[in-house]
Amino acid sequence: MTSDAHPALPAPTDEVVELCRDLLRIDTTNTGDNFTSAGERRAAEYVAEKLAEVGIEPVIHESAPGRANVVARIPGTEPSRGALLVHGHLDVVPADPDEWSVHPFSGELRDGYLWGRGAIDMKDFDAMVLAVVRHWQRTGVRPPRDIVLAFTADEEAGSEYGAHFLATRHRELFDGCTEGIGEVGGFSYTVDESRRLYLIETAQKGIDWLRLHARGRPGHGSMVHEDNAVTALAEAVARIGAHRFPVVVTDTVRAFLEEVAEVLDIELDPEDPETAIAKLGPIANIIGATIRNTANPTRLAAGYKDNVIPGRASATIDCRSLPGQSELLERQLRELVGPDIAIEYIQRQPALETTFDGDLVAAMSAALRAEDPGARPVPYMLSGGTDAKAFSQLGIRCFGFAPLRLPADLNFSALFHGIDERVPVDGLQFGVRVLDRFLRTC
Ligand SMILES: [Zn+2]
Repeated sequence: MTSDAHPALPAPTDEVVELCRDLLRIDTTNTGDNFTSAGERRAAEYVAEKLAEVGIEPVIHESAPGRANVVARIPGTEPSRGALLVHGHLDVVPADPDEWSVHPFSGELRDGYLWGRGAIDMKDFDAMVLAVVRHWQRTGVRPPRDIVLAFTADEEAGSEYGAHFLATRHRELFDGCTEGIGEVGGFSYTVDESRRLYLIETAQKGIDWLRLHARGRPGHGSMVHEDNAVTALAEAVARIGAHRFPVVVTDTVRAFLEEVAEVLDIELDPEDPETAIAKLGPIANIIGATIRNTANPTRLAAGYKDNVIPGRASATIDCRSLPGQSELLERQLRELVGPDIAIEYIQRQPALETTFDGDLVAAMSAALRAEDPGARPVPYMLSGGTDAKAFSQLGIRCFGFAPLRLPADLNFSALFHGIDERVPVDGLQFGVRVLDRFLRTC
């Protein structure tokens, strides 16, 4: 920690490991069904207790039985400045113990890593935040700005019972919040011994989930039949699945690619960013999805008997749109599927994009450089969506900044929702130090 060492108190860099392990041991699997969400409530109570223990007053807001969110405000010394929102979700996606090297809810410490579902998505950050603010409370540190802490439910199923609930039903909790930080950003990408990029999320794609509906004439499977809903649907789905939408390089992606091209010393052809992206290794999966709209078929439904031609068939398509492109994507899809297939939106949330400048970005960059002299902060666009979508509806300028220094050989992006999710302990401790500096100086 920075200047105030108190030998009698637990060091936040030690406590973060304990807090993260405890959180990993609470199974907060979000299946999408409310009746299975008891873990979220337990995790929320754990967080509330850890805050209350040091004199912070948390409030638990339940959106439905078990769907618990924790919010608290830490008053700053300069209340006239806008407040900073620090948010993290407590739920996780399911994990099948049979596929894992350790039990996914054991919080095991092994080979320098803490293992468990949620270790990087995102109980690591939840634990860092708790470790930092607990340390402050114990040592009398007050941040310059008000800090609003929000630990949310339901991020992994669209945030309806979490961030969207808070932002629409309890917006007063966020009064004065001008900026916010949360997942997925601030992690390192190793260039070489002396240089690491830290990807700070300044943009994220929009969510455009839709269902295609085909209708036809029902009939007997043995007869000549020209109007088959399954055939019509399958053709439309195949066209979407095989389609590549045009490349559009936004300001965020351009800034990222220019920086990457410079540090990796590769030629960047603005007409063909894919060649440069292909050289990035594992994170090419994320970055490659941020230069175009995407549409991936994910579900099919039709029929009820082997020899009956059904009158209808439907498919779900997970589409993600670049900032400002949602309407264009809708027109592109309409053209692809043709006039006979109906399109129904089941989820539509706008893309976000902010600039990589200003005092907050300077404070993030300075905190990273102070703890890692080889740090090169860069903006990037996330291909997925986070709770930031809900909070940005309140006019909050949101960033993905959950600092984490990673070993060069760790395939970080594969760990999200992946098997053997784990976080390096020294990376977690690095994150605490960066977060502490950042929150004191932003
Ligand atoms: Zn997450």
